[in-house]
Amino acid sequence: MSPIRLALVGLGKIARDQHLPAIAGTEGIELAAIASRNASLDGVPHFTTLEALLASDVAVDAVALCTPPQGRREQAALALSAGKHVLLEKPPGATVSEIGPLAETARENGLTLFATWHSRFAPAVEPARALLAERHIRTVSIIWKEDVRVWHPGQDWIFAPGGLGVFDPAINALSILTRILPHPVIVTGAELAFPANRAAPIAATVEMVSGKNIPIRADLDFLQTGPQSWDIRIETDAGEVVLSSGGAKLSLDGKMLSEAPEAEYAGIYKHFTGLIEAGHSDVDLSPLALVADAFLLGRRVTVDAFDY
Ligand code: NAP
Repeated sequence: MSPIRLALVGLGKIARDQHLPAIAGTEGIELAAIASRNASLDGVPHFTTLEALLASDVAVDAVALCTPPQGRREQAALALSAGKHVLLEKPPGATVSEIGPLAETARENGLTLFATWHSRFAPAVEPARALLAERHIRTVSIIWKEDVRVWHPGQDWIFAPGGLGVFDPAINALSILTRILPHPVIVTGAELAFPANRAAPIAATVEMVSGKNIPIRADLDFLQTGPQSWDIRIETDAGEVVLSSGGAKLSLDGKMLSEAPEAEYAGIYKHFTGLIEAGHSDVDLSPLALVADAFLLGRRVTVDAFDY
């Protein structure tokens, strides 16, 4: 089978840091074009818009959307209507309701739609899922705290409506949570701290439950300096399970069970090529639904204005 010719849309931080090397390292897929208003790559056909790319004579089979979530729906709909398979960066869109029709269009046209959750490809996530399947879970605590100025410098879209604010990284924790717990997760309360000059929260706490009312609490902060925290601690009948470093490490009562090199985006592209070959889609909206529910239920407080 000839390689899948991929167009990458939105040549920003995650496209350069992760997508380009992962595409280069994945068998069965190759970079065929870039669509980005301001950025281009030597030796790769470049267009300022997806429309121009699709109207050109550069042949592509699939499109990876690495733009901010606001506006992704239009790009995904355009690519699907042109007969292209589509990979969506996380979160899959700016709203929950916009994804169903895209999945339906993909299904009707025999195309693949892959709503990626990169943290689910972190190496200790599947071992954690297997471990928890055999344990009685008592409580879960998520601590997801990072410095927005370090990880998202100048990204004003994150604090615009639809940008999710602190939930942009925290949705990674929720994508892991919904993968490793054996039962669905429900939001029961939240407090969201909105900077006076911004439209999305900069910190939050979220209360959730799963299974037989197992309590889950998430503490989220976008102003964490010093050590960064991307940890999920799970109290079980057989000790404390800790999934740390964003899903890279797994320990039980302090004993390291799993620690492997990071390969999230290699996993994403391997899965994407497999989905296309098999004629399947992979669209799980549960992490985005939890964020939407936190916004629905959350008590809002106003905090100091934020500037980069
Ligand atoms: P970014 O650095 O801002 O890059 C996004 C690119 O999209 C921009 O460089 C821009 O390129 C293009 N773009 C198109 N419309 C835009 C608009 N209205 N506003 C801003 N940029 C626009 O963002 P990113 O960090 O790569 O994040 C992109 C997506 O990947 C987000 O959904 C994010 O949650 C996800 N993600 C990010 C990370 C991370 O660590 N940064 C990790 C995993 C996933 P042109 O100006 O050339 O068009």
